Amino acid sequence: MESKLYLIKEGEISLKGGNRNLFEKRLRHNIKDKLKIWNADIEKQKGRLYLRLDEDADDETVHKALSSTFGITGFARAYKCDKDMDAIISKVREVLQAHPFSEKGSFKIDARREDKSFPLSSYEISLSLADVVHEMFPELSVDLKHPDYTLHVEVRKDVYIYTDDEKGPGGLPVQTAGRAMLLLSGGIDSPVAAIRAAKRGLKIDCIYFHAYPYTSDLALEKVKKLASLIAPYLGGTRLYVVPFTDGQLRIKKLSYQDETTLMFRASMMQTAEKIAKEKKASAIVTGEALSQVASQTLDAMSFTDSMTELLVIRPLVGMDKEEIIKTAKEIGTYETSILPYEDCCVIFSPKHPVTHPDKEESRKHYESLEMNEEIEKAIEKMDTYYFNPLGQEESSEG
Ligand code: ATP
Ligand code: MG
Repeated sequence: MESKLYLIKEGEISLKGGNRNLFEKRLRHNIKDKLKIWNADIEKQKGRLYLRLDEDADDETVHKALSSTFGITGFARAYKCDKDMDAIISKVREVLQAHPFSEKGSFKIDARREDKSFPLSSYEISLSLADVVHEMFPELSVDLKHPDYTLHVEVRKDVYIYTDDEKGPGGLPVQTAGRAMLLLSGGIDSPVAAIRAAKRGLKIDCIYFHAYPYTSDLALEKVKKLASLIAPYLGGTRLYVVPFTDGQLRIKKLSYQDETTLMFRASMMQTAEKIAKEKKASAIVTGEALSQVASQTLDAMSFTDSMTELLVIRPLVGMDKEEIIKTAKEIGTYETSILPYEDCCVIFSPKHPVTHPDKEESRKHYESLEMNEEIEKAIEKMDTYYFNPLGQEESSEG
């Protein structure tokens, strides 16, 4: 069968020295896994990856898939042809019909001859192809320094032709930095935190604490939707839904009123640690920033950190809300995050939460709540959902 070809440029991976192979292998695996429905296959030639897919691969889906795969800095639909100038010219015509430049502006031909046995020099290839472009787009001018459009032609084992490449998300391939559990709420922040952490190579699964009926089924649907939206960036993700109504009611009943939020957060950390250890994750990621709400002071966060021996990563710590919102819009989670189904019912939120708890004292208070049994029960009743790397929910763990 004919196949569709994409050229992929990898970024920071190339800086990784001795580990380079590992990073590259992971990137290839992540891309192939995402696009396996079209029998993705990858070949490497001189620092470039060539992705081959079945001819019926859907361009829009592939575009979305590649622009959400960390480790990719750029990609373009590429076309292959025989190593013969007539074949190149007719292929270029075909490519420019499929991806036309606009009528006005400037262009450049970027020709590279890796195979020196090819009879024409890069310069000669450029000249004849510039004639083709002029003929098709008579009003375009040539600009070698700052062209609006570039047509790339690479003469290697075969000839590859492509137009301007799309930007990839950069970063490092997921799962090159280990595994983490994200505390995913229905808010704006935690999905952004997930993407930030995944960008550095973490493989992330999500935990959501659900307090039905205080938080509604719609709130759960919203969190599932968020998980499906971030799944492409995470290379697929599991969502663990922990039923935490009884735990929250116990905290509400037994703790000092102004400490309920703090105690709730402590129990979330303790639960997340248990799940993380069971699932072999070695860090917890949250969407907390500094000083955004009462529970996000240094004292409050250092208290909740003391509930776990795992590393707690807060990728948003230095971002303000504007920046977080901007990123949420870019990754496409914002509109879902602002839907009005609260993730934490007001009955559980104190009017005057403590902002500067004393660690030792709060710890004692927390211990006196004896949460272990509730936590064990909640984990036992936990539901698991799986969203594949294209963001689709799968019934099995895939
Ligand atoms: P977000 O916009 O992400 O909800 P927020 O600004 O509303 O954050 P909080 O509600 O204090 O702040 O939550 C801080 C972080 O705690 C969240 O980003 C998330 O990581 C975690 N979190 C809060 N509620 C839940 C929940 N019900 N389930 C899982 N994690 C939660
Ligand atoms: Mg919240």
